[in-house]
Order: sequence, then C-alpha cells, then structure tokens
Amino acid sequence: MRYAVISDVHANMEALTAVTDSIAAAGVETVVCLGDTVGYGPEPQAAVAAVRQLAAVSVLGNHDRAVFTEGAEARFNEWAEDAICWTREELDAEEIDFLSALPLSLVHEGAFMAHASPRDPASWAYVMDERDAAAQFGGFHETLCLIGHSHEPGFFEWDGTKAAELFGDVLVMESDKRYIVNAGSVGQPRDGDPRAAYAVVDDDELRGDIIRVEYDTERTGRKIVQAGLPAFLAERLTHGT
Ligand code: ZN
Repeated sequence: MRYAVISDVHANMEALTAVTDSIAAAGVETVVCLGDTVGYGPEPQAAVAAVRQLAAVSVLGNHDRAVFTEGAEARFNEWAEDAICWTREELDAEEIDFLSALPLSLVHEGAFMAHASPRDPASWAYVMDERDAAAQFGGFHETLCLIGHSHEPGFFEWDGTKAAELFGDVLVMESDKRYIVNAGSVGQPRDGDPRAAYAVVDDDELRGDIIRVEYDTERTGRKIVQAGLPAFLAERLTHGT
C-alpha cells in the first residue's frame, strides 16, 4: 500500500494546506499522522479539524500531550511553553478530548508508528543519529517504523547487527532489512530547508520518499505575531531552523 506520512504540523495551516494539495496531486489516498498537530503555530483549531478529516490514524505528540496535561509545559523551552499555554486556551473541550484519546503508538498497515521513540514513546527521546537509531530498533518488531519529533526528515536502516543513516530523499528498502523513516515536520522544519516536509511510503514497491513543499512562511509568521505568540516562532519558519 502507498500512503502519506505527516508529522509535526504544529498548527501551521499554510504548510498543512500545501502538503494536503501535494498529497492529493500525487494521488495518495491514505494519510497517517505522527502527532504534534498543535503547539508553536497560530491555528490549532483548524489544524486539529484538518488532521481529523485527513488522517486515517494518528498518534500522540509531546506538544499535544502538554496541552491537556497541566504542568507539562514547564519541561519545554520558553517559546514552546508560551505556545502550549496559549493553545490550551484556544482549543475547546471536544478538541482536547480528541488529543487526549490519541495512543502513544500503534501499528498501521504493518508499520509501527510513534511520535518520537519506538522503544519508549512516553520518553520523547530523539532519534538523531546512528547511535540513537541502534538503540531503537529493538523497540519494535515490525520491518518499518515511522517517527517524527526531531523535525529533521531522514532514514535509518538496520541490517541485523548495526544501524546506518541513509542520506537523500529516496529510500529503497531491502526485504531482509528493517527501517526507521522520519517524516520530518510539516509546520516547522529544522533541517535548514524551510519547505514543509512529509513522506510517502510504498510497502509494495519497498520505497520511501521525502517530499518538500513550498508554502507562504511569511503569512504564517504574521499570524503567529498577531496571535501574540513569540516572534522567534515566526522568524524560524523563514529559515527552516
Ligand atoms: Zn514537534
């Protein structure tokens, strides 16, 4: 099956709309979401509504959790903390209920999905390099694991004894190996490329693609400032950092 993987939308509707259009144009009908639909961005209600309509399944992200977990915001940096408290006031009870019902992990179409760490999803550990990845492959039994959280798209491969990071936007999977795909971030990329990121996985063709889509970062930035959210959160969108 061929499906799209979105993650870390972070209440950025310009980015999500551009990605939704790209997914439709590519003829991909199924979408899964890896969490952090809210936090940082200026349109949490619209983002929750859009993800609910778009995604067949979703898992919980750490920003999603913080919105319905009083006190959790203290574990974030000051910009994220401000945005979490602001988001908490924006969402209604029904939207909070939707977020709080999301699972930490699930298996969909044979792929393990978690926001951050397959081995211990509630730890919100980052998978940034081969060493991190090597520690994670024992945390799931499936051939393929889908994650987000770092806002840096990429691929890791497990050959049975060691992990390797695979570079580039295309993953060609070998049937005797296992993989972690990081879909990157729709709404706040941090790999130096400001374009929205998402992934397309085809488990019949054994292929994964990271897709980048331009959107109006200035427009989202203006909405962030108008909402009274930290200006830094607007500025970073233009650099993709
Ligand atoms: Zn995130």
